[in-house]
Amino acid sequence: MTAAKKIVRCPGCGFRFDVSYSRVFACGDCPMVISCNYVKCPRCGEEFSTSSMNNSLASSPG
Ligand SMILES: [Zn+2]
Repeated sequence: MTAAKKIVRCPGCGFRFDVSYSRVFACGDCPMVISCNYVKCPRCGEEFSTSSMNNSLASSPG
């Protein structure tokens, strides 16, 4: 069992979701779906990078 879920938090609305969940519907036709670092929030449509989240965990305001 390799549960490689990656939960991200939308900087726009704060909604948390799985990265793979976003890619299914937002990047269905994108050829970069494997290596793309961007995800789209299913709730508000905000698009943001997941790679930059690792470095700025402590600096995000409430
Ligand atoms: Zn959002």
